[in-house]
Amino acid sequence: MNAQIPHGVGVALGPRQALRRALDLLMPPQCPVTGERVVAPALLSPAGWAALHFIETPYCRRCGVPFAADYGEGVECPSCIAEPPVFDRACAAVVYDDASHKLVVGFKHADRTELAAMFGGWMAWAGGQMLSPHTLVAPIPLHRFRLLARRYNQSAFLSEAVARIAGAVHAPRLLRRTRATPPQKDLSPAGRRRNVAGAFAVPAEHRAHVDGAHVVLVDDVLTTGATLNAAARALKAAGAKRVDALVLARVVKGGVGAI
Ligand SMILES: [Zn+2]
Repeated sequence: MNAQIPHGVGVALGPRQALRRALDLLMPPQCPVTGERVVAPALLSPAGWAALHFIETPYCRRCGVPFAADYGEGVECPSCIAEPPVFDRACAAVVYDDASHKLVVGFKHADRTELAAMFGGWMAWAGGQMLSPHTLVAPIPLHRFRLLARRYNQSAFLSEAVARIAGAVHAPRLLRRTRATPPQKDLSPAGRRRNVAGAFAVPAEHRAHVDGAHVVLVDDVLTTGATLNAAARALKAAGAKRVDALVLARVVKGGVGAI
């Protein structure tokens, strides 16, 4: 059974989600990738499975970007060599492409929170090496205003599922946003770094938990790593011994296995 640092999950099921659950009982469930009918909610059709690109070795040992060829044990990609990330390692379950984009959008904006258990299983498999009973699994937090608008933090659903499946410690409020930041999606890499610089802090009541800890940060998508780096920096400043990152999907420049 997984443990949890006190103070709750920090997410709430709203009336829209309750309505969706009720409608799911009436409407035929659909594959979240292809829209085909499936026999039960939170299932993928065979074509949906085939459309996803699960990330397996070989990949960069630091940031997890998949390699097109096996360059040997422990090799890092050019980006990590040129500019080492703040986090120690990152792993992703799938490549962020047209198919996984549909999963992420449905999960983030369309209340498909029932998908969290499936995604958590993929992520626990992808990040198995970084998860132990002592690992603190923490979501990238939303600012309270965005949490109010969106009603739930999709990353907290993922972190809860990962911690439960891996038997690790769920720490949903290990970090907080110190200020609201505009969405990252339309910003350049440098703009993304500036946007989230100093945007995270470890609350005083969790400093003792973080000091000397191994933390695995959980988010839905890794694009440039700016958000995960900013969060990792705050955790390391608070004394975390090691900070890894585990995401559902990661962007691969140029497509699957481009490097
Ligand atoms: Zn890398």
